[in-house]
Amino acid sequence: MQERVVIVGGGLAGLAAAVGLAARGCRVTVVEARPRWGGRASSFVDQTTGETIDNCQHVALGCCTNFLHFCRLMQIDSLLQRESQLWFIGPDGRSSDFAASSWLPAPLHLFPAFLRLKYLSTYEKWRLAWGLRALARVDPAKCGTEPFSAWLKRHQQPPTLIERFWHVVLVSALSETLDRIDISHARKVFVDAFLRSHSGWEVWIPRGALHDLYGDQLSKSLVSMGVDLRLRAGVQQLTVADGRVRGVTLRDGQPIEADHVVLAVPHHLAVPLLPANLKDDAGLRRIEQLEDAPISSVHLWFDRVVLPVPHATLVSRVSQWVFARPASAADAKATSGGQYLQVVISASREVDGRPQAEVIQQVVEELAAIWPAVGEATLRHSRIVTEHRAALSVMPGVEALRPPQQTAIPNLQLAGDWTRTGWPSTMEGAVRSGFLAAENILRHCGRPESIVVADLATSWLSKLAFGL
Ligand SMILES: Cc1cc2nc3c(=O)[nH]c(=O)nc-3n(C[C@H](O)[C@H](O)[C@H](O)COP(=O)(O)OP(=O)(O)OC[C@H]3O[C@@H](n4cnc5c(N)ncnc54)[C@H](O)[C@@H]3O)c2cc1C
Repeated sequence: MQERVVIVGGGLAGLAAAVGLAARGCRVTVVEARPRWGGRASSFVDQTTGETIDNCQHVALGCCTNFLHFCRLMQIDSLLQRESQLWFIGPDGRSSDFAASSWLPAPLHLFPAFLRLKYLSTYEKWRLAWGLRALARVDPAKCGTEPFSAWLKRHQQPPTLIERFWHVVLVSALSETLDRIDISHARKVFVDAFLRSHSGWEVWIPRGALHDLYGDQLSKSLVSMGVDLRLRAGVQQLTVADGRVRGVTLRDGQPIEADHVVLAVPHHLAVPLLPANLKDDAGLRRIEQLEDAPISSVHLWFDRVVLPVPHATLVSRVSQWVFARPASAADAKATSGGQYLQVVISASREVDGRPQAEVIQQVVEELAAIWPAVGEATLRHSRIVTEHRAALSVMPGVEALRPPQQTAIPNLQLAGDWTRTGWPSTMEGAVRSGFLAAENILRHCGRPESIVVADLATSWLSKLAFGL
């Protein structure tokens, strides 16, 4: 008999749970309140240009093995571009190319790239090597509640190094400021992306809008696996009887029966949907203490091509990462020979309170100081999009607040980037949570199977040097 599973929420967590279960013979229905898939990783039509743009540029790293696996399963992996070269623009505007040595094993593969960073002194690079080594040796289980900013000071990291390196990498990766980052999460970024393997740091960027990535092809793949996909189908409540979830009731009153339910909605929306008998569960009550961080993206349409590189990381500026949309025939037509840029500002609390025009002007001036073509071009159109609940704040001690996927009700699973995955709130974290929820359901059905795929293999030298 096929188990009926209803998944509430069509973000990456819900979609990953769907593929994991449908591929193993479950009868899966995904109900999503909005008219599109992808949740927070979404696009919308800019009314002025008529172009489909993302709420914010999303990227994944090479160490995001489950997200990349999910994309392969959905046959959307060809819509991602692998970038093996980064450009860091120092405070003086000089560019430092960042790429791995092809012949040095991890963790030495990025050593020449770090040496080439023009905006760090030799002393700072030496302190950085020492800091990275100390961080890799931290036991994540014993991090306590010390903020990462305090750890950096305790490990004699100079202020300029903190501002130009640690801040730059972590704010982009974790969407939080250093005083609000748990040490274990900071460690995870550097270990998984930089130290463990040769390709963990590589950046995977969608070739087009997120709407293309999580659009028709994704739906086609899920439907071909027998998944019943329902958009504009918000869930009003879960139906519970005799200590088990019996299904869900949609906002239009329609009931859907289920043997298992996966609640894959954001944490602040999950709490009101939880059955009454779970509301006093001490573990689940901690969900209410979770906090979120905002991310802003500044969208700029210029009348000509202004950026000489596809993307760049900006050091010691309000603008953190700039992306030029890859030129496709459709884009070139829509932008009439111009260029569309997106500037990402993570943990954007400060800019969020300022007038938009002022922030846009500052961003354009920062870009023009680096690339004079920006100052010579005409800015045809601009806008800022801020997602206030973009990512879970990985505050010190956050892991104790994140619930596991399995709730006290055997046939009710939670999923979402905010549940306990060991990963920060990212597309990888979301996919992992969905796979973990699916694994729990299979276990209840007496068919235990591993769905989460392995991390990248640890190089022999990283094992030797850091005991990873
Ligand atoms: C601006 C921004 C930039 C980001 N950048 C990156 C990045 O570069 N790299 C990266 O890896 N991650 C990034 N993220 C994070 C990433 O988008 C999320 O971690 C991930 O998409 C979360 O997926 P999820 O499925 O857990 O949750 P969500 O995407 O929030 O999905 C939950 C879904 O549940 C639906 N829902 C809610 N209530 C109901 C209901 N009652 N009934 C039915 N459906 C309901 C919602 O509509 C939503 O579609 C970014 C996020 C934002 C906002």
